[in-house]
Amino acid sequence: MNNLKINKLINLQRNSTKTNSLTFNDQRLLGHLSELIKRPSVTPYDAGCTDYLSQQLTAYGFETETFTLNGVTNLIAKTGKGKKTLAFVGHTDVVPPGNEEQWQHAPYSAHISDGIIWGRGSVDMKSGLSCMLDATQQFLESGNSFDDYQFYWLVTSDEEGEAEYGTRAIVHYLQKKNITIDACIVGEPSASRSCGDTVKVGRRGAISGSISIKGKVGHVAYPQQIDNPIHHMGYVISQLNAIEWDSGSLDFPGTSLQITHIDSGQFTDNVSPAECKIHFNIRYSHNWCETSLNALIKKQLASINCQYDITFDRPCQPYLTPMESPKTSLLNVIESAIIKTTGRYPLLSTSGGTSDGRFVAQLGADVYELGIPNKTIHQINERAEIEDIVQLRDIYVEILKHYA
Ligand SMILES: [Zn+2]
Repeated sequence: MNNLKINKLINLQRNSTKTNSLTFNDQRLLGHLSELIKRPSVTPYDAGCTDYLSQQLTAYGFETETFTLNGVTNLIAKTGKGKKTLAFVGHTDVVPPGNEEQWQHAPYSAHISDGIIWGRGSVDMKSGLSCMLDATQQFLESGNSFDDYQFYWLVTSDEEGEAEYGTRAIVHYLQKKNITIDACIVGEPSASRSCGDTVKVGRRGAISGSISIKGKVGHVAYPQQIDNPIHHMGYVISQLNAIEWDSGSLDFPGTSLQITHIDSGQFTDNVSPAECKIHFNIRYSHNWCETSLNALIKKQLASINCQYDITFDRPCQPYLTPMESPKTSLLNVIESAIIKTTGRYPLLSTSGGTSDGRFVAQLGADVYELGIPNKTIHQINERAEIEDIVQLRDIYVEILKHYA
């Protein structure tokens, strides 16, 4: 990417009183982002993104380790010393671009105009990775060092997919080596309107399930000779709907179960079906876990007078980082960094879907998601404002300076 060209295109677009043109570091930051967007890393392929990050970090004294599992590429990089640990967490993979002809600028072109960079992953979350990288470099170049804490990078190429061989595997690897992470920042796009307006401090859990009931097929004119599984499933659905879930707390939205699909096979007007199956999804607060939900559903269905099969699938644990963490003061550091950089006070939120933060939370880490606005994630014409990206990098630099 031609720096002069970038500067010309973006000059005066930033609503900043500090400078009207991009600094050397801003240009390098956009250079990192362009490099990453141009690598079409649709899950689980990382398309060389991990190599790019690894080479950059190695040049700044990090020990890096890359391992591939079932086509997923994971990176663990480490530097520094001291008792406390901090991690930057992220993913290189992106969702598919969809119909490329509908994009105003090609999805892997990293096109820049009018203060905006376009491309798949520009928001989710190659901006986050680029800001982490440039902040790390800027921190070290300014004469700072990681003498007071150990600093990790945990990056996967399997966040948008099944998440089976990604951050979950990285966490298992760290557990085996008895490495703990005290606190981490996930660079997911957490903001709603402008950078720093929202920090995610937790996420609800999610689990899918299905229930199937087999019946006895027969002519509806002879009801005594058939066993209609739809009628039994009606009872199951009413029992599931009768569960009184928790309504959450100030910190956390409540739990809910939604039936998402019902299927009784091929329809014939005068035949009772052989099987009926439903699918459901539960979004749950930290009052619940996979085991307790499983037990509750089975108890709720104990009075059914037929055989049924139930399976649970794709569990995602919830997590909530306490407001007053006895272990780290990272939240205070984050809030101060946001206020200093943007002049705004962030909202602390637990809204939205799941993220890889849930795996790192299993290490006992305080987990915070802090990134740019998420307005266009996963959409055709995904794009990010350069002012938000520069601000995020500046926030990360402040955090690195003050974490210890
Ligand atoms: Zn993401």
